[in-house]
Amino acid sequence: MSGTVLEADTGRATIAGGRLYIGGEWRDSSSGERSDVIDPATGRKIAESAVATVADVDAAVAAAKASFDSGVWSDLSGRERARVLIRVAALIRERSEELAQAESSDVGKPIVFARVIDVATAAETFEYYAALAQTQQGALRDTTLAAFQYTTREPIGVVGALTPFNFPIILTASKLAPALAMGNSVVHKPAEDTPLSAAILAQILEDAGVPRGVYNLVTGVGPALGERIVEHPDVNMIAFTGSTAVGSKVAAKCGELFKPVMTELGGNGANIVFADADLDTAVAAAINAFVFNSGQFCMAGVRLLVQRELHDPLMAVLAQAVPGVPIGRTDEPGTVIGPLVSQRHLDRVSGFVERAKAAGGTVVVGGERMELDGGFYYRPTIITGLANDAEAVQEEVFGPVLTVQVFDTEEEAIALANSTRYGLAMGIQTSDIVKAMRVARRLEAGIIWVNGWGQLDPTLTFGGVKNSGYGRENGPEALMHYTRSKSVVIAAPDPFAVGR
Ligand code: NAD
Repeated sequence: MSGTVLEADTGRATIAGGRLYIGGEWRDSSSGERSDVIDPATGRKIAESAVATVADVDAAVAAAKASFDSGVWSDLSGRERARVLIRVAALIRERSEELAQAESSDVGKPIVFARVIDVATAAETFEYYAALAQTQQGALRDTTLAAFQYTTREPIGVVGALTPFNFPIILTASKLAPALAMGNSVVHKPAEDTPLSAAILAQILEDAGVPRGVYNLVTGVGPALGERIVEHPDVNMIAFTGSTAVGSKVAAKCGELFKPVMTELGGNGANIVFADADLDTAVAAAINAFVFNSGQFCMAGVRLLVQRELHDPLMAVLAQAVPGVPIGRTDEPGTVIGPLVSQRHLDRVSGFVERAKAAGGTVVVGGERMELDGGFYYRPTIITGLANDAEAVQEEVFGPVLTVQVFDTEEEAIALANSTRYGLAMGIQTSDIVKAMRVARRLEAGIIWVNGWGQLDPTLTFGGVKNSGYGRENGPEALMHYTRSKSVVIAAPDPFAVGR
């Protein structure tokens, strides 16, 4: 039954034999093709993963549809589904070390973060939606109709879930848990660079009692498989997290097909530091905001906006502190910054910095690759002196790169913060809480952190505005994406005879 085999290899998990999981069976791609999975910390192959074909996607959709139509999952009560989802969470915790090793060596995450953030959050997400599955209710409205009526929320059917490389297990859980809680079946395609944790999760779902065909995993090349999932007539809804460029194509196709779609896209968050901020708090927030997950964080704070009076003291501390943030091997407990996900992505981030320099930016710290074990490391980098329309300010670099701009007034800070096409996460550092609330109201973003950066929880809804997409994940709001409402009106001669 196993889709992956874990074995010790110089202390790092080696994962081999990744296969597709379709209709409750582990299979090879119909073409037999496989691709290498690379550990970004060493550049070495650690596993192989099946490269699915369009025919495999069609088989996965057929299995998902058959399971949905059979009612084996979709007809269960919320309480029955919750019982299974609670087991999923328990098995994630039981296999947490294996999952953390897979996530760490697949994405290049420091192992400590993979354990306490990625895997733990995935378990909590299943627990949370297991609870919500038991609280869903229909409605009986107070109408003037000569009828008895009720409104229910039903599962949508087959959900196509497309997830990105940077938080594979968290972002899989944030789609699967609400989708399954509401009775849907799922076809999931993880990012091509990071397919490993999804295969372990598939085993966990099976062991927890999710019926065959309710969860289906296809790994392989993004455009070919993703486009087929999006356009497949038997896929009823798309849950997409990824770049704005791909999300725009996915949303356009879904628009053409009138297919509901949830989009969670790119960001380049502004972190506003007012002169009255506590310096230590502001420094910690500024660093955390741009180095976490090596800056490969949609909600990163990569545009530091500093009020003029605090600019010099803040920059003096940052210039000292940032080079000292531990960067290195992902299996060392003290590491904060690991490698970038791939050589391709390292070249992309490096290209942004080189162009920023050519555009007049001054690299205050970093600005270069780091050689270690053949991994894809880039040093944390701070760039000052860029114009607001510079590429590195306006676009999502998706690496540990911070740009710094100065402002004088609150109005100016808000205008700068809102001046890009993205709107996902922003931060406000100030000791004046009334000012924080006044500014938060005017920032175009889905989540705003005051005096800190990055706190998240499965109960706390997040999502974007503008080109960061229009999805909402976590919290009860996410359930709306995975259900549709239906009203039933039963003519009754005396509407007051029933229902009141
Ligand atoms: P990506 O857009 O390259 O890929 C996302 C997913 O879409 C992958 O599974 C990929 O294989 C698939 N895909 C690729 N081309 C496709 C196509 N033509 N049709 C359908 N699917 C296709 O993103 P990525 O590089 O893996 O992830 C990084 C991006 O994700 C960043 O922009 C980041 O900001 C964003 N992100 C957003 C959030 C959020 O919640 N808003 C969270 C994490 C990451």
